[in-house]
Amino acid sequence: LSRGQAIQRAREAFGSGRTRPLEFRLQQLQALQKMMSEREVEIITALKQDINRSQYDTSLLELIGINNEINLALGKLREWAAPRLVEKNLLTMSDEAYIQPEPLGVVLIIGAWNYPWAVTLVPLVGAIAAGNGAVVKPSEISGYSSLLLATLLPLYLDKDLYPVVTGGVTETQELLKQRFDHIFYTGSSAVGKLVMEAAARHITPVTLELGGKSPCYIDKNCDIRVACRRITWGKFVNCGQTCIAPDYILCEPCVQGHVVECIRQTLLEFYGPDPKSSPDYGRIINQTHFNRVVGLMEGYAPVLGGQCDASQRYIAPTILKDVPPHSKLMQEEIFGPLLPIVTVSGLDEAISFINERDKPLALYIFSSDKQVRKLGEAYYNSGIAVHNCFLHHSILCVRLLLLDFVGQSGMGFYHGKHTFDRLSHQRACLLRSLGMESINLARYPPQDRQRASR
Ligand code: NAD
Repeated sequence: LSRGQAIQRAREAFGSGRTRPLEFRLQQLQALQKMMSEREVEIITALKQDINRSQYDTSLLELIGINNEINLALGKLREWAAPRLVEKNLLTMSDEAYIQPEPLGVVLIIGAWNYPWAVTLVPLVGAIAAGNGAVVKPSEISGYSSLLLATLLPLYLDKDLYPVVTGGVTETQELLKQRFDHIFYTGSSAVGKLVMEAAARHITPVTLELGGKSPCYIDKNCDIRVACRRITWGKFVNCGQTCIAPDYILCEPCVQGHVVECIRQTLLEFYGPDPKSSPDYGRIINQTHFNRVVGLMEGYAPVLGGQCDASQRYIAPTILKDVPPHSKLMQEEIFGPLLPIVTVSGLDEAISFINERDKPLALYIFSSDKQVRKLGEAYYNSGIAVHNCFLHHSILCVRLLLLDFVGQSGMGFYHGKHTFDRLSHQRACLLRSLGMESINLARYPPQDRQRASR
């Protein structure tokens, strides 16, 4: 099937009305659930080949979350899809007024490579639940996962309604020329702008889940050992290739040494003396990204790590201290296992440091002091704010969690009912009887009723 034919078929299938009954949507969601359970080993193997992710991390970071989304949609779909009555007023007293979520049509889902199943299937769950068709375009960079997804989806789901289109930049650009009813994009901010531009040509709404530099502030008075264990996990899981990974640490100079030492100890605990031989430590997705991340380190002497092996696309967990605020490392999202520490004089300076830059996807504050946390939340701007932990597994495991993106980190929100709402049209409906016409007379011309009655 060509891309054009795939879209055409999805449109026709949507036009046939078969996604309208909730039974159909539930049955498709059950089929997706079946795929996830029957093909789990293949999915885990594909991710091992793509990014050297361990089975444990794949389950924890990707599969549990997808299954939770499917279960939630299966359990709640009838409630989500039900009409919502609107409060009545004098004018609508005798009417039936309600909001009815309606399918949008055919949506385009474009995914990134770092969690290639979650970033395509979580939106797809919402698309199916809302009664849409969906063209799924996984990232060519996670090639094993992409091919497997293209093989599996048609085996389990309606072949016409949910086609998978594989390919790279050219294929995505071709897709973007077509008209869709919503575009759901996960990837870099640079491409996010191109997606929005293409969508504007058809006035298509978009949801953009982009990236950014997520800061992590450590208050000097908190339990730094525990904070560093959590930060180490959040940063180095998936080899640092997580959109909401902490990009850099902000702390006062007096605790920097202790922070480095605690991270060193935690890394030893997590990955042993040689992370390269640890089954729990990942790899950089491809040579281009390997070169990019290595390039970011140039000119710095890491206090920890720094070792690389291009043949395996291995970069050791690396810490860089006293990083100047205007250095290369602090300009773009790192998206790899490098953790710079920038020192600040305290919370106030941390706040100005963050607010001078693009709005980040996530903000992390480690502090036991309520005041610090409150101040941080009040003055920083970010898509999400998290205290004393990392969101990775929470996003995927906590039901109904809302991810809302701002500024350069994107726009729109999703997960659970939010995806359903995002991919539905909230149609306002009014039902009035043909009786009691006298009530309407006041609104009809001529305005001068006396003249009318003459
Ligand atoms: P990528 O290179 O795989 O690109 C993502 C998608 O865009 C792919 O399907 C690709 O084919 C397409 N694409 C790439 N270049 C294009 C172009 N010029 N024109 C049209 N389409 C194009 O992935 P990436 O962008 O390197 O992904 C990493 C980024 O994604 C990071 O910035 C990360 O923070 C972000 N991300 C965000 C979230 C989130 O939830 N906000 C989740 C995961 C990743």
